[in-house]
Amino acid sequence: MAGPVRPLRFRVQGMDCSEEVALIESELGPLVGGADQLQFNLVEQQLTVLPQEPIDPQEIIDRLASLRLKAQLLEDQQPPTRVALQWPRRQMVLTAISGVCWLAGVVLHAWLAPTSLGKEAPRWIWQGLPLPWPVAVFYLLAVLGGLAPLAPKVWLSLRHLRPDMHLLMSVAVTGALLIGEWFEAASVTFLFALSLTLEAWSVARARRAVASLVEMVPPEAEIVTDGTTQIVPAEQVKPGQVFLVRPGQRIPLDGQVVEGQSEVNQAPITGESVPVPKEPGDEVFAGSVNGQGMLRVRCTVPSNQSTLAQVAHLIAQAQSRRSEVEQWVDRFARRYTPAVMSTALVFPLLGRLVLGLPWQEAIYRALVLLVIACPCALVISTPVTIVAALTAAARRGVLVKAGRYLEAAASLRAVALDKTGTLTVGRLRVVEVIPWNRTDKHQLLRLAAALESGSTHPLAQAVVQYAREQGVDNWPEPTDYENLPGRGVTARLDGRLYWLGSHRLLEERIDESPELHRKLEQLASQGHTVVALGSNGQLLGLITLADQPRPEAAQVVRQLRSLGVEHVVMLTGDNQPTAQAIARQIELHEFYAELLPQDKVKKLEELLARYGQVAMVGDGVNDAPALALATLGIAMGAVGSDLAIEAADVALMGDRLERLPWLVALARRAVRVIRFNIAFALGVKGLFVVLALAGYSSLWLAIAADVGASLLVITNALRLLSGKVALPD
Ligand code: ADP
Ligand code: MG
Repeated sequence: MAGPVRPLRFRVQGMDCSEEVALIESELGPLVGGADQLQFNLVEQQLTVLPQEPIDPQEIIDRLASLRLKAQLLEDQQPPTRVALQWPRRQMVLTAISGVCWLAGVVLHAWLAPTSLGKEAPRWIWQGLPLPWPVAVFYLLAVLGGLAPLAPKVWLSLRHLRPDMHLLMSVAVTGALLIGEWFEAASVTFLFALSLTLEAWSVARARRAVASLVEMVPPEAEIVTDGTTQIVPAEQVKPGQVFLVRPGQRIPLDGQVVEGQSEVNQAPITGESVPVPKEPGDEVFAGSVNGQGMLRVRCTVPSNQSTLAQVAHLIAQAQSRRSEVEQWVDRFARRYTPAVMSTALVFPLLGRLVLGLPWQEAIYRALVLLVIACPCALVISTPVTIVAALTAAARRGVLVKAGRYLEAAASLRAVALDKTGTLTVGRLRVVEVIPWNRTDKHQLLRLAAALESGSTHPLAQAVVQYAREQGVDNWPEPTDYENLPGRGVTARLDGRLYWLGSHRLLEERIDESPELHRKLEQLASQGHTVVALGSNGQLLGLITLADQPRPEAAQVVRQLRSLGVEHVVMLTGDNQPTAQAIARQIELHEFYAELLPQDKVKKLEELLARYGQVAMVGDGVNDAPALALATLGIAMGAVGSDLAIEAADVALMGDRLERLPWLVALARRAVRVIRFNIAFALGVKGLFVVLALAGYSSLWLAIAADVGASLLVITNALRLLSGKVALPD
């Protein structure tokens, strides 16, 4: 067996409908080991090939060229850029020409032969023109203008014997001309061209929204070398180089502040428009806006790997992972079109022989069926809806990594939240230091700081900071350092072994007296976290730390419940009384405390068994296993932590918990829009199939209904871009 082969990504111009998808599948499928190895992203016009054996990209480009599709190989990690943006200009112009000619034809028609408008006597074309010749000329021009953009696709479809909607339309229009229905032919072509343009425009609009994320980054940076500055393209700046950010400027690259102080608006990344103070040592992100101060920043990653570029890249990728609805629509469209078409093929005969219709009438009804057979509005509306929702979310600092996670968020039945850093602010502060067994306070802090200096836990950072404030600084280097996840740490200081951690850890290490147990419970019941420090069998002291519930936590819990999430629960490794106190403050009645990381996983399994659709919200690092297990893993405060962005299905880039109910509401709205769009498009089609067979629909009515449906469905989809949702209080 060959090892894993690198996926190849291509940008394919003109690939924006399921027709091209079917064509490409039949052309490339056999080459790469099956159509399953191909992924399509219609909005970004990207094709990803996962060949089973190494293959020359040029071969794929050539094959695509034989389908008259222009393809270009994309580098890995290349974010969507300005390249992706072309409005369908040629198509718009031709459609406009078609429209003008159509209108001129209609006006002339009404003037020269008002009685025949819309009700020409059906007759074959060779029996003579059914209408005055100047009118016919305009109608013909309208037809040519509308069909011109389709010509290459029709040719392809004929050559590959794959009937697609372009072919259907051309046949319908030609048929209409043959049976003398010129007004109909012109109307159908113009309206069809209009609906194609509309679709191309809506896709371009959605694509533009994604690209606008990246366009926010200035293309140039002012680098500082030996005291002089020089403006260079941002892509050329290497990690380690220092650049200058002047007041009010956008930051061109991710980096670390080395000099200066300022407030920075990080809204493009986190969705939070409250400026964040920055000083030397702090991280800043490309795309954010500098406030009044001047900053010198050391670049940390090349511009194409900045956080914003990653976000844009992930959103672009998110679209190629097709959601379940999209797959369903595709499968449906692939059966629906041939089915309606076969009906249209046999209908003239049936209509003539069984119903005794005149030939022209029977053919006419079949042509109406052909017009109705086009599925494109149905097919394009779902990806456009999903991209619109993903983009609206990204603009508010919510990174959703695939369309199907929107579906998951919309159908959540339970949500589990981590306590520290998720339901609470996670910025702990030491409240009390209680020495034990004749240890002095200074000594206790010195040991605690030494033990915690190696940990990244929020508790550890609080202890170290407090020790510094109290003037403790020269603590010993720990050796044999060991992190006990969910319990604490142990290490050797000056040769002696110490432990520091939870009540549970204390019980493991020493025999606890009843008084001590009561004391610990009492401290914890105020909602404070209590950690104990000891050595050998002896307790040396206790430190209590306070954290506050996020001000929005109570409301978030309420909103989730009003949105119909049946079960909202807190999972924490902290003590029972602490958890209880916090839970009471945020009116959360269900919680599980004293959980080790593996216990969190077990609890989540239980929730999954009971509720099926469960989200886990955590701060991304020590909750990783639970995040991975949940139907929907949501990481909080993910900006600046690649790990959290990688591990979760959804990353809340900012630190705002209220985005959670917002996301659920947005996802629900997106799913509703998708369902409505599908039902509506199918309903219109179904209605017209019946009308057409019964002879109550005209060609232009069928196409007008189709355009109307497309217009409605696409407007519906694009409205999601605003991100406005109705949230319960
Ligand atoms: P949570 O589930 O609230 O995020 P953790 O699982 O990270 O909490 O930790 C659970 C408990 O273990 C903490 O409340 C604390 O008592 C103890 N603990 C974990 N790591 C440390 C540490 N580095 N220093 C002190 N105590 C710790
Ligand atoms: Mg935590």
